[in-house]
This record gives sequence, structure tokens and C-alpha cells, in this order.
Amino acid sequence: MNAVELNEELSGFGALLLASAVKSIYPTVKLGGGSVGEFGYYFDFEFSVPVKTEDLSKIEDEMKRLGKRAEVSVMEKTKSEAVKLFDKSGEPFLVELAGTRKGKIGIVKLGNTSVVADFAICEKSPSVVKLTQITGAYWKGDAKNKMLTRIYGVAFKSKDELAKYHEWQEDIKRRDHNKIGRELEYFTTDPMIGQGLPLILPKGARIIKTLQRWVEDEEEKRGYMQVYTPDLTKSDLFKASGHWTHYKDGMFVIGDERLDDEVFALKPMNCPFHIAIYKSQIRSYRDLPIRISETGKQYRNENSGEMHGLTRVRQYTLSDAHIFCRPDQVQQIFDECLQLTDFLVRSLGIQDRIWYRFSKWDPNNREKYIDNKEAWEKSEAVIREVLVRNKMKFVEAADEAAFYGPKIDIQAKNVYGKEDTLFTVQLDFALAEKFGLSYIDENGQKITPFLVHRASLGAYERTFAFLLEHFAGALPVWLSPTQAVVMGITNKQDDYVDEIFKNLRGKLRIEKDIRAEKVGYKIREHSKKKIPYLIVVGEKEREEGKISVRTREGSDLGTMNIEEFFGLGQFNAPTE
Ligand code: ZN
Repeated sequence: MNAVELNEELSGFGALLLASAVKSIYPTVKLGGGSVGEFGYYFDFEFSVPVKTEDLSKIEDEMKRLGKRAEVSVMEKTKSEAVKLFDKSGEPFLVELAGTRKGKIGIVKLGNTSVVADFAICEKSPSVVKLTQITGAYWKGDAKNKMLTRIYGVAFKSKDELAKYHEWQEDIKRRDHNKIGRELEYFTTDPMIGQGLPLILPKGARIIKTLQRWVEDEEEKRGYMQVYTPDLTKSDLFKASGHWTHYKDGMFVIGDERLDDEVFALKPMNCPFHIAIYKSQIRSYRDLPIRISETGKQYRNENSGEMHGLTRVRQYTLSDAHIFCRPDQVQQIFDECLQLTDFLVRSLGIQDRIWYRFSKWDPNNREKYIDNKEAWEKSEAVIREVLVRNKMKFVEAADEAAFYGPKIDIQAKNVYGKEDTLFTVQLDFALAEKFGLSYIDENGQKITPFLVHRASLGAYERTFAFLLEHFAGALPVWLSPTQAVVMGITNKQDDYVDEIFKNLRGKLRIEKDIRAEKVGYKIREHSKKKIPYLIVVGEKEREEGKISVRTREGSDLGTMNIEEFFGLGQFNAPTE
């Protein structure tokens, strides 16, 4: 089912009710900040007594009581007025929050409780409030700060909306890749190996390999050249690319600059390696475009608290490519990149879940962007034309480009209702120049090429997680690690089961089940494992040389011969 959109202004009211109710029950509590989003709302507190999940219903009751009175006022204060106000009410976190703000500060007040309004508030109090979760959170999200208590909640206009919300939450649990991916034996984790470093098990590996081969084959058809580059490199490369100055904290560095002659790092990106490959030869205008692709690992030293399943990991595999082209080829390159993503997205059956975001510069924000007005204007016009001509569903986002050029992000909403970038195509006018890249044009002049960074299927781990959640584990037949399982009604048919198994092995991914278990039990078990086709054979099937086929959804497709079985679905990766 689709994500339930939570009204942000209603959530804002909920956050204020929450802060006020907590203050009323625990007068010594110190108020932190609050926020609203696709999760509803939260507010952070420093309690002087421990507060647990059991206490939430008491807070909810107080929120309902306050909601009925609901004397809310919204005001604007100068920084010094706001600091004075919060100082007077004995709220050190709010004093700090107001002290760091620029310009006027919005404040919302309910009864005696005032907080910094980092959220908008509707006029009418929500009629239904529900607190959903209690966790710890560092003040301002910084691990060096105090750990506060964060309480999450949702707010609605009616009980019906709450019921819909509950239904959605149940659906999310059913789809959570971190749960089903483990149940279906696709991946696991081991504390000895570490957080954000999942072990992909044989069936999960089969799925990722299938995706990877498919993407690599499609890229090869489209003129990409696959390369391998090292995971490990001397820091010199990242000093030249600028990563060392801007991104060192996010990198895994091996060695110590003060002690060692050579310091190494695990690569956070593939770009500088592909640039080195481009640079390894003299390039002529006739050689361009050059499309270098790699199924490349990337490493990010992220906070261990942020790790989750296959989506927040420290090491991932990107379907990466860098295309070096002449300025007059930008249109062609964007065109082909978009056509490839469109093909992949349609083949996966997720076209209704995605849209394109065209991220542009802001001509007035000269500090943020590389100063090349002509390049920005020309290339943005070219990219817009490509989107329009290909009839792509897109939104334009001003001031969202990378500092080095405009980009197209392929956006999707995940099952949690959160917008995420799945894949991206980015034009870069800066990096080629930084590395002194060139090609020789028809007049023998050295010209700097344009560079396009592009991920066709994004990070395999993340896309895999997205697909598991989208399909609630029941992947399309061609992606299923086991496409069919054959079993006998009793063990008397073991030899016929073996015959069918050998006949189909090599043509599709098949397993046989000759355990001494009841056939009904086996059918239930394999359906739960999301195996698309369950082939059941008894004496009748053996006599006729046929098979009976059921689906994981529980439909009985009847008796058929092998040729008819192959007509049922698409067992191989789609091609254009
Ligand atoms: Zn790149």
C-alpha cells in the first residue's frame, strides 16, 4: 500500500502538545528541539527521572486534555528577546538554540510552554494523537553532546486516519528488507565483522549477480568499457581530487601522515581512478565519447549508529560510470543515460514509483557554484530538452545542483514514505579541468572534455533492499534466486522428481525437495520462501510425463508439459 502522508502542520501541533504535556507532567524536564517529517513529529527532552515506553500513554492523555483547551499563540522575537524568554523559563537548550539563529525567531506557545518553532502549526488541534516510539538522541545530532530522550508521535484529524496509519505500519513491517532479507536467507550480519558490513548469503548473492550481469551486458551493448580499479590507493590521488581536504573524515585512512612515508585510503569514489584511465592515453576528438564503467566498491566511514540492513552500509557496490565527452555531445550522453535508466526501471516494474528531479544552479548563489555562466545555461537547456523529448515525468529543483554542474536524480519514495535518490546522472565542468584532462580537436588544439558521472542502477545493495521492500520479498521470476522447486506427493516419486530436476537444471534456477515431509508442509514452506513456481508430481503426472504447477501466491495452474511450463513466465533477464 502507499505511504500515509502525514500533515506537517497537524504534526507541528502534535509536537507542541507533546512538549507541553511532558512539561506539565514532569515540571523539571528541560526542553530541546522538535521536528516534523514523514515520521510524524518528535521532541527531545532532558528528563531528571527515567522515562520509558510505559509512560507514553500518560503523556498521550495529557496531550488530549491540553488539545481540548488549545490556547496556542505564534510569535516572532528578536534573538535577544528569545534568549531572554527561554533564560527566564529555565530552558538552557532553548537558549542555546535561539542563540545560534539568524534573524527573527519564531516561537510557539501553548499554556505556559514556549518552544522554538522549527515547524508550522495548524489552527485546529488534532483530535487524535498517538505516541509511537521513545529513543535516545544526541543534542543537535552530535555524539560529543549530551544524550537526550526523543519521543516520537503522530497526529490526525480522525480515528479513521489513525486506523489507516496503523494499517500502513503493518505493511511496512511486512516489507522491511532488514527483516525479510534475513528470513529469506539473503544476508546476515556478524558482530565480529562489524556494523554496516553485511554478509551476502548465496541466495542474496545470486540476486545481486543477476542484476549485475544484466546491467553490465546492457552497458556493453551501449558502448561502455568495463574496468577494474583498486579499492586501495595512495592518499596522493585524493589530495589531487580535493577529497582529502573536504572528505577525509568520511574516509577509511590506513597509516598516519606523521609517521609513515606513504598513507593509503579505501576509495570513497571511483571518479579519480576513471580519470587516471582517461589520462593514460592521448585522446582525440574522434575517440569521444569514452564511457568507462565499473561495478566498483566504495567505502564510507559512517557513524555506526546510522547503520541499517543493506541501505546504510560502510561498503557498497556501485554500478558506476564516467563518460568523457565533447561539449557538443552532452545532449547525446544525457539522452542515452536516461534511456538506459528508463529501460532498467521499466524492466524491474518500478516505473510508477520513480520520477526525475532536474537539479539546477542558482545564478544568484555564485559562492556555491563553479563560475561558468555559459556552461550552466547551455547545459541546463540541453538537459531540459532531453527530459521533455523523452516525455520523462520530472520536477525542476533550483539551487539543488552539485557545485560542479547540473544533474538529473532518479527519485523514488520508499515504503516508509521517504524520498530517496536511487540513481543519478551528473554533468561536471570542474573535475576534468582540475586533473588537466584534454583531447585534441580537429585543429590540433587541446580542449578540456566534459565529464558525466552516472550510476545506472545505483548501489546494488540499496537497490536490492528497495526491490525487496517494493515486492515484499516476492521478486520477479527472473530475479528470484530459486525460480522453481520440484517435489513428489510422496517419496515414491523421488526418481521422477530427480528426472524433472535434471531436465530443468541449467535452463532455470531449480531445487528439488525429497525430504520425508508431507507435501502440504513443503508447499507452505517454499511459498513462504517466495519461490515463484512449485512443481508437484504424483503417479498420474509420472504416467503422463507431465508436471503440476502451483504459484507462491497459492494458485493452482494445473497439469502441463515442460514446454508449456516455460511459457508461464520470464525466466531470463529482460533485454531490449
Ligand atoms: Zn563520479
